[in-house]
Amino acid sequence: MKTFVMNAIDKVGFMDKPIPKPGPNDAIIKTTMALICTSDSHTVHGAIGPRENLTLGHEAVGIVHEVGPEVRKLKRGDRVVSGAITPDWGDTFSQAGHSSQSGGALGGWKFANIKDGVFAEYFHVNEADANLAKIPAHVSDDVAVYCADMLSTGLVGAEAANIPIGGSVAIFALGPVGLMAVAGTRLRGAGKIIAVDSVAKRCELAKFYGADVTLDPSKEDVVARIIAMTGGYGVDSAIEALGADETFQNAVAVTRPGGTISNVGYHGKGEFVHLPRLAWGVGMAEKVITTSLCPGGSLRMERMLQLLESKRIDPTPMTTHRFKFSEMERAFEVMDKKLDGVIKPLIIF
Ligand code: ZN
Repeated sequence: MKTFVMNAIDKVGFMDKPIPKPGPNDAIIKTTMALICTSDSHTVHGAIGPRENLTLGHEAVGIVHEVGPEVRKLKRGDRVVSGAITPDWGDTFSQAGHSSQSGGALGGWKFANIKDGVFAEYFHVNEADANLAKIPAHVSDDVAVYCADMLSTGLVGAEAANIPIGGSVAIFALGPVGLMAVAGTRLRGAGKIIAVDSVAKRCELAKFYGADVTLDPSKEDVVARIIAMTGGYGVDSAIEALGADETFQNAVAVTRPGGTISNVGYHGKGEFVHLPRLAWGVGMAEKVITTSLCPGGSLRMERMLQLLESKRIDPTPMTTHRFKFSEMERAFEVMDKKLDGVIKPLIIF
């Protein structure tokens, strides 16, 4: 089968590999659609070290091709979405309620990290009954594929932000995760949603997903503006959806004492992430910082699919580009260099 791999740091290309075989509880999925993620770029540029000839990609939908003998809920031909994170559900961290960390920090993240990912004609899913969800007939593949990561991650950003009903929230960076975090804050009952990004098209989409106000950090001091907009106190909650020192510091600075900063950004560069000492109340302002990795699992995927089926969220405006799998090199370059106003490139197999 054809796969798209990271040959070495800063080098990608196609590679032929054998179709994987399932273990007793696993499934092999024939890929129909996938999305490229900025995390794939981070990986290629060495954020987690060298991953020689590892297949990239972690956001995909497909058709069940083969299941192991112990798989009960799925059969060949089922149309399914896999979480980007595929935990080991018997692991001690899963049992403690942190399934994304199964096996240790970030251990639920297997695709294109510790095993081959989904940019392939077929991919392997461990614990298939627990990690795959059947896609309802009325939800198309190009919509369902957003459950894998963007919806689950964006929404957990809002879930972890502890937003009071009617409360205020600021979202820093409006890539697809930030946009889905905006949608999540609305679903969680935020009363004032302030979205921050310097790209006009992304701000426009944030309004579509429920932002009341958008601010451009290249044009104004967004921290001062948000503090002023919230009676001098700051927001109840802030969401960091970029993974940069500056946005993280801004998120801490705009959060009022006792508020919550929810980090879903992937801090892919540098040795440290810094806290603004005074705005952090010199460590005593009771500001809570939460960190989350995309929740996976069939129950989580089923809930995301329900949001799509009921049209509470429409992710399709984020699909700015469509490519065939054979055009993967170009698609990756577009996403990697953020060319042509790209938000999400959809890959069709
Ligand atoms: Zn992703």
